[in-house]
Amino acid sequence: MKGSKDLPFIVAGGGIGGMCAALALARRGLHVKMLERSPGVGEIGFGIQMAPNGHAILDYLGVMPALEPYVFHPDALVMVDAIDGKEVTRIDLGDQFKAHYGYSYFVVHRRDLHAALFDACQNEKTFSFESDAKDVVSYEDHGSSVTVHCADGSTYEGCAMIGVEGLHSKTRHRIVADQPRPTGHVVYRGLVPIEDITNKSYVNSMVIYTGPGCHAVQYRLRGGTVMNNVATFESPGIKRGSPNYGGSDELFEAFKTCAPVVQDMLRYISLEKNWVLHDLHPASNWTDGNVTLLGDAAHASLQYLAQGAIMAMEDSLVLASEVVRHGDDINAAFLSYQNQRLNRTARVTTVARIFGSICHASEGERLLRNELAHQRDIHGTWEFDWLYRGANLVKQVA
Ligand SMILES: Cc1cc2nc3c(=O)[nH]c(=O)nc-3n(C[C@H](O)[C@H](O)[C@H](O)COP(=O)(O)OP(=O)(O)OC[C@H]3O[C@@H](n4cnc5c(N)ncnc54)[C@H](O)[C@@H]3O)c2cc1C
Repeated sequence: MKGSKDLPFIVAGGGIGGMCAALALARRGLHVKMLERSPGVGEIGFGIQMAPNGHAILDYLGVMPALEPYVFHPDALVMVDAIDGKEVTRIDLGDQFKAHYGYSYFVVHRRDLHAALFDACQNEKTFSFESDAKDVVSYEDHGSSVTVHCADGSTYEGCAMIGVEGLHSKTRHRIVADQPRPTGHVVYRGLVPIEDITNKSYVNSMVIYTGPGCHAVQYRLRGGTVMNNVATFESPGIKRGSPNYGGSDELFEAFKTCAPVVQDMLRYISLEKNWVLHDLHPASNWTDGNVTLLGDAAHASLQYLAQGAIMAMEDSLVLASEVVRHGDDINAAFLSYQNQRLNRTARVTTVARIFGSICHASEGERLLRNELAHQRDIHGTWEFDWLYRGANLVKQVA
């Protein structure tokens, strides 16, 4: 299907994925119009980890100079057993790691990342953003153009549409016709000034305390001035099918067998809001003519590999590159993009689930996990090469 590139690419959704897609297309000189449902464009106020494959893309997109003052570089990724408080294993993020992957591993506040991406988009002449809240509800693909309909009755004409509306994407629902998979995992988060943290054992690292059916994560943000705290547990209420699930009673119950140092962390968690986690079963197609999906709408995964947003960044680079390569044949570009991304993103979704089970192991499985993890060679084991070496993607598309 041919598309007239005189019309813009319509990007439905202005989260991290939408911003990256828009920026990658605009940097190639293509016209982009972004439609975002929320009245104020932005992100929730917590942290996000950027492994080398994400760092490489932000560097390629020219966002790093604006972001650099706000990032924090942990010295290691450390796994600690939440029951006995002993270190299980670690990945040192020092010079050897940086030399191996070509880029460092950093952590950043989502708002800082989102703002840097939005600013970069707004500096592109071919980018436009609809400032009124636009809830995209449907589309019609005419072959050479796409009409996009919003809930307020407005319509937009584009050469193509990219659905980047996250887990509950209406575009996904139409193309793939599936539903998010409930996992029964519930997340609470909290951000506190670094001075409030009493246990300084891993204050310069990204630490994960792995407990039976639960885990807690800590790392610093905003140049190290605040501590991001995340507590996740498997809700017994969800497993029972109870309508009342995920409350703070379940949170404290889930962590009650953990070491005092882990239980103490719960006081940094805000009890005002929680997130019930879902992922999506890997699809075998997410393209319909001149309409395709990107980011969580295409392949939402659990957070255990800390790669969801990075996968959206990788998608964006491949998509923009394929659009340029295929000229006016947008459907061919979208299919080629999708086919390059299907297996990699399915692997992330699948391995994230497995890694979640490993993190939440109990009884004998926990002992086995700890023993096997202890046997790792912490100075020369690169089991995340398949993931972090995605940094090579930049060389392929450049
Ligand atoms: C606890 C947790 C920790 C995580 N940690 C990491 C991490 O460390 N590293 C990492 O890479 N990833 C991480 N992730 C995953 C990451 O947050 C997501 O993969 C990423 O935010 C997805 O971005 P997105 O733009 O595709 O979707 P979203 O962030 O969901 O954005 C979708 C956007 O579309 C808008 N929208 C929705 N519907 C419509 C509509 N109908 N019309 C117009 N606009 C619409 C929404 O308002 C929103 O702005 C984590 C996730 C969780 C839950």
